[in-house]
Amino acid sequence: MPLTIPSPLHDQLRHHGEETYPHECCGILLGKSEAIAGGSSDIALTVTGLLRAGNTRTDSAHNRYHIAPQELIAAQRQARKSGLDIIGFYHSHPDHPAQFSPTDFAEAHWFGCAYVITAIESGHAKITNSFLLSGTSEDDKAFLNQPIEIV
Ligand SMILES: [Zn+2]
Repeated sequence: MPLTIPSPLHDQLRHHGEETYPHECCGILLGKSEAIAGGSSDIALTVTGLLRAGNTRTDSAHNRYHIAPQELIAAQRQARKSGLDIIGFYHSHPDHPAQFSPTDFAEAHWFGCAYVITAIESGHAKITNSFLLSGTSEDDKAFLNQPIEIV
């Protein structure tokens, strides 16, 4: 269940976090989601594009992120036009580890999507991790460590 991402896009989402530091950045991952042959619910996600999103959470933009529903709908429309899907989301953690917070987990509702987090330390992108939201409902959802394959 890897997340495959071209190197330039990987760099771009990391740079986005450096640009918005000390605030969080957030964005949408567009691409393709494919079932892995033989796997039950295992999927391979391939990123082919990024969409930057405005961080609409002005109350505490340093530790919360939120993508406006209108922005999501527009993103979905744009993706479908090019035969793509929303396959995940990314955001940054200014001066915090690249691990999901309880809020990140609570606000994650896109099953089968990747949630990518980059730690930005003193303005510099450090570790980038991806978590796959597995499960089918709020009761059995879980974040799984997802290997990132940079191509
Ligand atoms: Zn977070």
